[in-house]
Amino acid sequence: MPRLSDFAFDHIVVGGGAMGSATAWQLAKRGRSVLLIEQFTSKHLVGSSHGGTRIFRLGHQQEVYTSLGISALQLWRELEAESDTSLLELIGHVDHGPVEVIADIEEVLNTNNLDSTRMSPDAASERWPGMVFDTHVLFSPDGGRVYAQRTVDTLWKQIVKLGGEILPNTEVLEIKIEGDNAFVETATQTFRTQSVVVAAGAWVPLLVAGLVNMRQLTPMRAQPTHFTPNPEFDDIDLWPTFIHRGISSEPQNDTMWYGLWTPGEGVKVAPHNVLDPLDLEDRSFEVNAQHEQETQQYVTDWLPGLDPNSAHSTTCIYTTDANEDFILDRQGPITVCSPCSGQGFKYVPAIGAITADLAMGGTQAVTQWRLSE
Ligand SMILES: Cc1cc2nc3c(=O)[nH]c(=O)nc-3n(C[C@H](O)[C@H](O)[C@H](O)COP(=O)(O)OP(=O)(O)OC[C@H]3O[C@@H](n4cnc5c(N)ncnc54)[C@H](O)[C@@H]3O)c2cc1C
Repeated sequence: MPRLSDFAFDHIVVGGGAMGSATAWQLAKRGRSVLLIEQFTSKHLVGSSHGGTRIFRLGHQQEVYTSLGISALQLWRELEAESDTSLLELIGHVDHGPVEVIADIEEVLNTNNLDSTRMSPDAASERWPGMVFDTHVLFSPDGGRVYAQRTVDTLWKQIVKLGGEILPNTEVLEIKIEGDNAFVETATQTFRTQSVVVAAGAWVPLLVAGLVNMRQLTPMRAQPTHFTPNPEFDDIDLWPTFIHRGISSEPQNDTMWYGLWTPGEGVKVAPHNVLDPLDLEDRSFEVNAQHEQETQQYVTDWLPGLDPNSAHSTTCIYTTDANEDFILDRQGPITVCSPCSGQGFKYVPAIGAITADLAMGGTQAVTQWRLSE
């Protein structure tokens, strides 16, 4: 019979990836007692937060995500200062592709008084000669690279430093609700609490099934590929972070390509919206050869500074919502934190702050992040 731990923690956070860790960090900073439960350790390759880097950018077609990025930037700097660790490098970000998308991003940046520069494709290739650019190019200096695994490790350290507790290698088997209370069950213990944050990435739908009324999230397999730069382009300063938002000359092809230099690994390149179905119970890490070839072809066509034959692919989980939105919302004692859709990492500390607010009784003001429409 599992041992009952009664109201020992104000909050229990399930899932020690980037989002659960950021939430536990924020709760601990606010003086709340918090326990973070993770089925593995901070370092594992099974979820969405591992690996070297992710893209940070403020440019977005939707105002709400630019505002979130602005809050996140401030909180990234706070986390770096507290932990004395460098996590975010603003090296600049380039968006290129069809004019309608580029103009939308430019408008949102302008509305928020953020810098951006329109460039011709030739001027952009002169500045970043390893890349070929599509018809419309927008450079934003407030973009760059954020270190993924280093962020999770740093958050775990900060949680403990602030008095929070972490239970690694412990799977939450079930969450039950009785009135205002929730019971979080592991193999050996049951925790009764008034606030559970479920930040379990691809496993969120399984853990909250029957407990909250939530719109559908679908875990999918993404496949990024690293490439080695050719010798004359082997210089970190020659590679901004970039998103190619659909190839202008092929309007029927809506593939969105992104990439960035990951120190020690090469330049990561991937199609954002080419994903494979994923079976969480029987996960395959095998590389999809056809996707790898398509990425090599993209590199040949658009990134001549990279060696297409140096392709090294890995797999990772995108937990997707139909509109590429997040779920950050509370119902009873359960707060759901599912900000993936392949675009959550840049906002990690801000997501932690919003989720902590919700867990402490706040309400969700952003309609598109509610549990259900
Ligand atoms: C290939 C790829 C590229 C990406 N690129 C970018 C990018 O450039 N920019 C950007 O902003 N974002 C990007 N993202 C998105 C970003 O990485 C995710 O939004 C983020 O990592 C999601 O973190 P998470 O904590 O929600 O999920 P996860 O990292 O998956 O964490 C969930 C955790 O919950 C644990 N867990 C699950 N079930 C249980 C249980 N029952 N008991 C205990 N623990 C449990 C899991 O083990 C896991 O550690 C990318 C994602 C991928 C996959």
